[in-house]
Amino acid sequence: MHDLTRCVHHPAVNEEGYASLAVPTHRASTIVYKDAASFAARKYRGFDGYTYGLHGTPTTRTLEAQLTALHGGVRTVLVPSGQAAVTIVMLSVLLPGDKVLIPDHVYPPVRSFCEEYLKPRGIDYGVYDPLIGAGIAALIDDATRLVWVESPGSGTMEVQDVPAIVKAAKARGVLVGCDNTWATPLIFKPLAHGADFACEALTKYVGGHSDLLLGSVTVSDMALREKMKETLRAFGVGVSPDECQLALRGIETMGLRLAHIGEVSEDFARRLTHSPAVETVLHPALPSCPGHAVWKRDMGRSAGVFSVVLKPVTDAELEAALSALKIFAIGASWGGTRSLIAPMAIKGDRTVNPWTPEGTVLRISIGLEDRDDLWNDLDALLVALERRPAARVA
Ligand SMILES: *Cc1c(COP(=O)(O)O)cnc(C)c1O
Repeated sequence: MHDLTRCVHHPAVNEEGYASLAVPTHRASTIVYKDAASFAARKYRGFDGYTYGLHGTPTTRTLEAQLTALHGGVRTVLVPSGQAAVTIVMLSVLLPGDKVLIPDHVYPPVRSFCEEYLKPRGIDYGVYDPLIGAGIAALIDDATRLVWVESPGSGTMEVQDVPAIVKAAKARGVLVGCDNTWATPLIFKPLAHGADFACEALTKYVGGHSDLLLGSVTVSDMALREKMKETLRAFGVGVSPDECQLALRGIETMGLRLAHIGEVSEDFARRLTHSPAVETVLHPALPSCPGHAVWKRDMGRSAGVFSVVLKPVTDAELEAALSALKIFAIGASWGGTRSLIAPMAIKGDRTVNPWTPEGTVLRISIGLEDRDDLWNDLDALLVALERRPAARVA
């Protein structure tokens, strides 16, 4: 063997006795076969075999298997983002002439996908009141193929009655997909309640460090898994083993992170109800939150994201108060170690239940900072808003 050949042939080393707790990062495009016959027969390896890096390596399979176990499903499909987890379900099961029902509080890019991508291609969508429960039956027509749920909902936090929606959908042979990003499989397991698809933005609590983008869909029916894998293959979509490796690291501490931030978020939500600057606190653990009884029945624990509806202030007052924050960062995409605040524009995203409060909705995501540092920061924000000149005049 000459040097140039040596440069591209890695020597085999002894791996005997090597046992690490870390999951190795297997990167690959090419998969090599032991002979020409195996190569010719590669398609018979199926979606659980290894044929091409795009379709999976042992690293991606490890994360898939871990999520499958947590959700109590049969297989998990990984995609490059949480948004892709939602769209891949829709693209896999909806055909022209079909219809999907989405809740009014759905993650806004999902509504845009329905309006701007599905609709022009002959796939209709309807929007329903997230608190509809069994009443969804009245909206299911012969074209309806999928009911989408997201619980609690983006921004306004309504908790949905997933079992009631599933029951009504099953009675009509309609599939149910659930965006479970807030709860994670540690707080809610949609498949155990009869949903067909459990979607997670792994970007959030599984990743846990604001440095990766990844999504997953777990199913309990192999046929649905095949459909999604076929769609991904057609689009040429796969995920990076490096992202999966980060998710595999993040998932190890997710339980402890969630237990802590869930407790802090409940504590802060209760304290915030006493602030004169606050109109309402939208947190599933508070009885005033729409769907609280369902949360108590089906979840009983909290994650770190909730919303506060402020009493009306001017944009300048809000901007000044937010810019003075020292510990909370301003930004979207929560679930990391840093606490975030993001002002949300809800009004334009509601078509079924018009959003009437005049004050800004602040979405708060609790991170891992010291509780007193966080509270002092939040308190200073609220005090600044209470002391606005208009309030003094009144
Ligand atoms: C963030 C989020 C998504 C999208 O996740 P990305 O990985 O950012 O695409 C989808 N659904 C919900 C509920 C989310 O919070």
